[in-house]
Amino acid sequence: MINSTNLLNQLRLLNVSEADIRDLFTYRYKIDYNQVLIGRLYMLDSKAEMDLELISNQYPISYIIGFVNFFNMKITVNPSVLIPRPETEELVYLIQRKQGNTLVNTALDLCTGSACIGLSLKKIFPHAEIYASDISLKAIQVAQQNAEINKLEINLVLSDYFQYFINHNMKFDLIVSNPPYIKEGEILDRSLGYEPQIALYSGTDGLTAFYNIFTYLDKVLNEHGVAYFEIEANNYEQTISLAREILKAYTIETIKDMSNKNRFLKVSKRYL
Ligand code: GLN
Repeated sequence: MINSTNLLNQLRLLNVSEADIRDLFTYRYKIDYNQVLIGRLYMLDSKAEMDLELISNQYPISYIIGFVNFFNMKITVNPSVLIPRPETEELVYLIQRKQGNTLVNTALDLCTGSACIGLSLKKIFPHAEIYASDISLKAIQVAQQNAEINKLEINLVLSDYFQYFINHNMKFDLIVSNPPYIKEGEILDRSLGYEPQIALYSGTDGLTAFYNIFTYLDKVLNEHGVAYFEIEANNYEQTISLAREILKAYTIETIKDMSNKNRFLKVSKRYL
């Protein structure tokens, strides 16, 4: 048995952020964190001790809390989906800023995972038909749950990249993707080892997903359509030269993230 003050001290020793500590107490242990802060003692069961063990092994706290906040939504996460990152939320705000006033009837979030992007697109373009796809059935199930929790209607599709949409002759005004883009074999923080590896890694050059996406993009993007991608900043030059090589008839624009890294690509057909 562990009491709330001990737990709080141990979480702080493990450098857990104040916001995460508050969420753990509130949502995981269902205890009023303000009371904990003023020293009121609560006894916690073995769940809290197991959590401490996991956290000390770099297990992602978002999986323990069970959700993250993203674009003013609660997005459920479990080890079947990547934990949405702040950069991805930045991408969504960028799309809102750049495309929010354009006519978007159909949009696709490819490699949707938790559906964080797809659901954000539905909020930005409430009248558009939104599709979100993933190759992982378990991810689609989490995405479905998130659509229900947030009362947003999107179409979830199990698909290997664009395959389903090509087979069904479907084209989109807007395509967004944060595909796997890390080089296989790259040593990462231990915490990433708990996330779905299929959502992270993409061939020894980190470009397998982008190779596939760029190759078929023309088949699924409408004439005046636009696509946005999150890319690996450290692999930026290779990614953009691959895009230039394959998407010859397209304008490719790089956009930096808040940390001034080359993080996003905007791709649209060039008109002379
Ligand atoms: N679209 C999801 C995200 O941005 C999942 C991305 C992925 O699985 N590579 O978080």
